[in-house]
Amino acid sequence: MTEEPGADQSTDLPNDLMERVVNLCKRRGFIFPSAEIYGGFRSTYDYGPLGVLLLRNVKDAWWRAMVQCRDDVVGLDAAILSAPKIWEASGHLSNFTDPLVDCRSCHERWRADKIDGTCPNCGSHDLTEARAFNLMFKTFAGPVEEDATVAYLRPETAQGMFVNFMNVLQTTRKKPPFGIAQVGKSFRNEITPQNFVFRTREFEQMEMEYFVPPDEAQKWFEYWLDERFRWYLDLGIPPEKLRLRHHDPDELSHYSAGTADVEFLFPWGWDELEGIANRTDFDLLAHSAASGEKLEYFDQATSERYVPYVIEPAAGATRTMMAFLLAAYDEDEVGGEKRSVLRLDPRLAPYQVAVLPLSKKDTLEPLTREVLGLLQPICMCDLDVTQSIGKRYRRQDEVGTPYCVTIDFESIEDRAVTVRERDTTDQVRLPIDGLVAEIRSRLGR
Ligand code: ATP
Repeated sequence: MTEEPGADQSTDLPNDLMERVVNLCKRRGFIFPSAEIYGGFRSTYDYGPLGVLLLRNVKDAWWRAMVQCRDDVVGLDAAILSAPKIWEASGHLSNFTDPLVDCRSCHERWRADKIDGTCPNCGSHDLTEARAFNLMFKTFAGPVEEDATVAYLRPETAQGMFVNFMNVLQTTRKKPPFGIAQVGKSFRNEITPQNFVFRTREFEQMEMEYFVPPDEAQKWFEYWLDERFRWYLDLGIPPEKLRLRHHDPDELSHYSAGTADVEFLFPWGWDELEGIANRTDFDLLAHSAASGEKLEYFDQATSERYVPYVIEPAAGATRTMMAFLLAAYDEDEVGGEKRSVLRLDPRLAPYQVAVLPLSKKDTLEPLTREVLGLLQPICMCDLDVTQSIGKRYRRQDEVGTPYCVTIDFESIEDRAVTVRERDTTDQVRLPIDGLVAEIRSRLGR
């Protein structure tokens, strides 16, 4: 009854992939320009009904891999508004800068390390000398704007883990090697936010600080390079679009003894998704010196006292979500008609199941409610009742829903429904009684 021809081979991806994905995000409610009714606001974005689901699934997949499925990593959610002392000790107040240049012709400002001496706006080479521009957002905590009330919006989540090192150690009784993980917003006053949500001033990070005995640092650095690389592959980034790039010694941050980036092949070229760094004992020593508190581990078994080294996998949630969208976007043909389809891993897809009654007639409503009631506790469901079934399948394909469950008039008689798979468009008819088990098994839940 709901039959449709199978899907043919993917067609070549369009040159304007980026534009298509940005349009799709707006049109289908993934990402909206912020304050759009006022003309937008400085490269900020709001995550719509589908975007909030996709972003949450990216963060959940990270948390599952980094915290839930391990016994050596615990979570933290530290404050975003933070004390200047933290950033003084970490080196951010003096070092967290980008080189800023002005174009003397058109007066645009640029990040010198991203433009090769030519103004991207007017082509002029007449640029000012680069000067260090600090990327931290400064604000005031309390009603008086004075030096004593200065606070910063955190530019990374990592420092929350370092300043809570002793709290976590004492309350969890963990011993190195162990990690503290955090997902949350960070803020950087980027000189040139660009490429949609790739670089924004407000964004989300997924970071983990893994504390290890100093002589094991290199081993754990390599271990996390492997783990993190595999995470992206496992969730569907094709291997030819993913690479590891080791930093040259002159590229390393002030705290790092080794860094490698996981890079994705974006439409504009290879660019960073995540940095994995050996931060040594830099942060714990710096906070210890500045606060006067001992930040170290005492091993009762050996009576040994030491400051652990830290291996840090630091990923961007919003940037990674964008990479998943770009990697998943595809076009193929079904019955001679072009369709666009997001081949998202079911764990990431905003909806896992769409419930589609064949007709809006009241007769199908009770069964539709029953099926929804069975599926909603196990996964995110969309209910779509308008337009032809073919159009509804296309709408679900376009947002990546892996399964459609169609309820027709026969369903009332035989208590069976049709389950249709996104990528192949294959359909099978299944008894409602076995539906939950079937969807669970297909989703691996
Ligand atoms: P870049 O060189 O691109 O400015 P970075 O090397 O300074 O980034 P890190 O400090 O290592 O970035 O931050 C870890 C991760 O946080 C990055 O890999 C990226 O995914 C994410 N991230 C950093 N800055 C931004 C931003 N402005 N917008 C979105 N994501 C960001």
